[in-house]
Parts: sequence; C-alpha cells; structure tokens
Amino acid sequence: MGESAAPILTIKNLNKQFGSGCDQCGSRAGRKLDKNYCPACGTVYSCQDISLELYPGEVLGIVGESGSGKSTLMRCIYFDQEVTSGEAYLQAYKEGRSNLFEESAQQKRFIRNHLMGKVYQNPVMGLRMQFTSIGNIAEKMIAAGNRNVGAMEARGRELLDRVYIPVYRMKEAPKNFSGGMQQRVQIAKALSNNPPILLLDEVTTGLDLSVQANVLDLIKHLQRELNISILLVSHDLSVIRMLADRTMVMLNGQVVEQGLTDQILEDPQHAYTQQLVHSLL
Ligand code: ADP
Ligand code: MG
Repeated sequence: MGESAAPILTIKNLNKQFGSGCDQCGSRAGRKLDKNYCPACGTVYSCQDISLELYPGEVLGIVGESGSGKSTLMRCIYFDQEVTSGEAYLQAYKEGRSNLFEESAQQKRFIRNHLMGKVYQNPVMGLRMQFTSIGNIAEKMIAAGNRNVGAMEARGRELLDRVYIPVYRMKEAPKNFSGGMQQRVQIAKALSNNPPILLLDEVTTGLDLSVQANVLDLIKHLQRELNISILLVSHDLSVIRMLADRTMVMLNGQVVEQGLTDQILEDPQHAYTQQLVHSLL
C-alpha cells in the first residue's frame, strides 16, 4: 500500500437515517441528539456523513460500540439498504467515476455479485442453511453469470478446501456445521467471484475464543495470499488490532477518530477511543 495508489473504494458523506427528521434535527449543524436519536421526533441518525477510502491490499478496521452504525454502513455499501444520501466509487467500476448509489438496481446487483463479497455476523443472513455448502458457493457464481456446472464444482471444492472444509463434507448443509465452519463457508462464498473487496461484519462475534482465533488467522492468510482489500467491522478492538492496517472509530453514527491502527492503539485522541484502548490492557 502506498499513499500514491488510488483508493479501490471511496465513500463520501454517507448518511443513513430512519425517520424523516423535524425542525429540531433536520439540519446537520446544531442537531441536538441523544446519542443518534432525536428525542423530538424519534428519527435515528445511524450514519452521519461517513467518508472513507479503502486502498488496494489494505485492511481498514471499523470499531465502535453496539449501535454506533457499523452494520448500517456495511449494509449501505453492499446495497442491503438504501442510503439517505452520499456517494460511493469503486475503482473497478467505470474507473471510479460513477456514484454507485445512483446506479440502477440491475447495475447494483452486478456490482454486488462481481465486485464485492460480504460475510455477515449471523450466517443465516449470508447462507441458505438447508442447501449444500458447495451449492451455496455455486449460488453466488450463478448470480454472477456462471453456467458451467463442472467449473463451478471445481471452484467450489477449491474454495472450501482453502477454508478447511473437508472434501467429504462439501455436500453437507451449513445447518449441520459448527459456528466457525459456517463462517468459513460464508468466507468461501464471498470469495467465489474473486472480488477486489471483502466486507466483514463481526464475523467472529459469538464464537468461542479459540475458534475466533482460527477464523481470524484464516482471514489474515487469505488476505495476504489474495491481496484483497477488506473492510473489517467489529465492536472488539482486539479483533481490529489483529488484522487492520488502519482503523476508523465510530460513535453514535459518526467517525470520531481514524489513523494507523498502531498509532490509535498507542496514542488514542478521542475520550471514547482512550476508554476502548484502556479496556484492552
Ligand atoms: P452497530 O452495527 O454498530 O451495532 P447498527 O448499524 O446495527 O449498529 O445500528 C445503528 C443504529 O441504527 C442503532 O441505533 C439502531 O437501533 C439503528 N437502526 C438500525 N436499523 C434500524 C431500522 N431498521 N430502523 C430504525 N433504527 C435502526
Ligand atoms: Mg452491527
């Protein structure tokens, strides 16, 4: 990664609110909220003017307490939810000149299938639990226009092998698998179309510590091998510390601090970040 490289993904002033706002909260300046919530009208401001750049081969960590807007941000980027306003540019799509949020539903589907992979905290969101594991991978490949069954089977085997699902279990349904294995199937699926970007939302939250360590280790290895760019969301700073080159800290829907992960760990500036870092020690 170098300062001179162009970002692979750029997000500008992404806003996502639930509710239509009122004269107390309608304008960003002077908005008086209780955390992210307007007590006058009940509107929730989940993401407020979030901007970020993700560079080739980089892992950008996003850390923040529960409710700070991390998953909303990831859902907006993956088009699981519509933004209220904002811009997103992908280097791999129209040379980064077109705001993805203004593309048609069909183009968004193309972008999501070819250029991004996502792993959800809850495997039920990312997998069909009753399908075979290899069928789950084929599904994403079919969505990207693949039709060659033999090639998809070969690719599915290769991917599942990469995430240490033994060959003899590939036709088994994820519902039979442990939590760690389900996350590994999700990772294989997310990688199936060789996307330049991977979105990981709390992928190890809720797993036993030793399983968590295995999954994080796998992600680290795959990232190095494939030189893929990753947006890594977690409420847990120790997960971020293990994987992220740079880190953004979110609080109440806003970015309160960002920088090199080492710098943030050594010299946190914002009171909330200081508290997070101290709780690690
Ligand atoms: P995090 O992932 O950081 O825990 P989320 O992005 O899930 O946070 O949530 C951010 C805020 O948005 C929370 O206050 C949450 O209650 C609110 N929120 C998320 N989805 C909705 C929704 N569909 N309607 C209303 N509020 C929502
Ligand atoms: Mg979340």
